[in-house]
Amino acid sequence: MEMDGDEMTRVIWARIKEQLVLPFLDVDLKYYDLSVTHRDSTDDKVTVDAANACLEYGVGVKCATITPNPDRVKEFGLKKEWPSPNGTIRTIMDGTVFRKPITLANIPPRVRSWKKPIVVARHAFGDIYRDQEIRVPGAGKVELVYTPAGSEGGEPQRLLVNDFKTGGGVAMGMFNTDKSITSFARAVFTFAVGEKLNVWFNTKDTISKKYHTRFREIFQQEADSRKAELDGAGITYSYFLIDDAVAQVMKSEGGHLWACMNYDGDVMSDMVAEGFGSLGLMTSVLVSPDGKYEYEAAHGTVTRHFRRHEKGEETSTNSVASIFAWTGALGRRGQLDNTPEVSEFAGKLEQAVLDTIEGGVMTGDLTRLTTTPNPKQANTFQFMDAVAERLQASL
Ligand code: NAP
Ligand code: MG
Repeated sequence: MEMDGDEMTRVIWARIKEQLVLPFLDVDLKYYDLSVTHRDSTDDKVTVDAANACLEYGVGVKCATITPNPDRVKEFGLKKEWPSPNGTIRTIMDGTVFRKPITLANIPPRVRSWKKPIVVARHAFGDIYRDQEIRVPGAGKVELVYTPAGSEGGEPQRLLVNDFKTGGGVAMGMFNTDKSITSFARAVFTFAVGEKLNVWFNTKDTISKKYHTRFREIFQQEADSRKAELDGAGITYSYFLIDDAVAQVMKSEGGHLWACMNYDGDVMSDMVAEGFGSLGLMTSVLVSPDGKYEYEAAHGTVTRHFRRHEKGEETSTNSVASIFAWTGALGRRGQLDNTPEVSEFAGKLEQAVLDTIEGGVMTGDLTRLTTTPNPKQANTFQFMDAVAERLQASL
């Protein structure tokens, strides 16, 4: 199933299907139009339907979409500021987001030791993203209070966070749930087995002896209960203290799955993305705990380029992450349906993209990074034409 989107990525989307997929594959695409205007006219029902369809079919591919803010409400005359489609889909699929860079021989990572992609899995629920905070105005006590709802909760608990004696300050209360942490751990191991990647997980459990320790315990339980599956895939699970993991990542060759708590994943995924080169080379996949996959590019609708495109001006927008969203989905489809030719086709399309760039033809975001002398800067469509030509020749 496919989810269409907005602006420059919508333009690229149509072109991918028309030029790189439909001429070669007999594929029954279930189409959901998640453009902001169609979400508006269906009162966002289309987003919910799409997420449920992704669960039903097991594999989906999504174009970048506008998350409306007040300016967008005015621009399109929307009924309201609809929520982020990605947030809606993530909640319905109870999914974890994995961000994976595409690596190329002539686009060197900024970190010299990185040879293989580092995939970052971010737990996208709770912690400071759902906290309550206070500016403590003056002297006084801040306490943490637990009021059990039933008998399994035991006794009420009351802990002193701080006795502010000489003046105010700040305080916060945050939480996570065993259910969400377990879903996260499951999605991480399911993905790792599918992609044959060793798993790294890290917290600061030396300091946070209950909160972070709970994450560590749940990951360990999950790793233990799936030991045979991990062994079968030839992969390992390692736990690190976050400081140690950060140092190890910089020295490593890459090629592993780096699972992080919410804040760590937010921050570290940006570092990894930039460390590998360009947003146009970063893919993203949402995986549910029972192994349903939704593929997309990590970047947005590239509005600045779309404004130029609308005026009839030339753009050089990188379509690689969007193409790889399609190849990821097609490859997975082939595995599920036991149609290896489909997966093979996806592999050939990926190879055509890599060969095009490594052959020196690329969009403007990459010409600035490449080690290829005098690269040919292609516009949005010339690049896709060059990929189509190579694909055609490889079949
Ligand atoms: P963006 O679309 O990712 O673009 C930010 C800038 O990054 C671009 O202006 C461009 O820089 C560069 N860039 C990103 N992707 C590129 C590509 N494929 N090729 C070349 N350059 C690329 O982020 P944004 O402008 O902040 O957001 C635009 C819209 O996208 C917003 O409405 C937002 O809600 C939405 N969004 C959607 C998703 C999603 O659906 N997953 C994610 C993020 C944002 P230069 O202009 O310097 O060339
Ligand atoms: Mg971030």
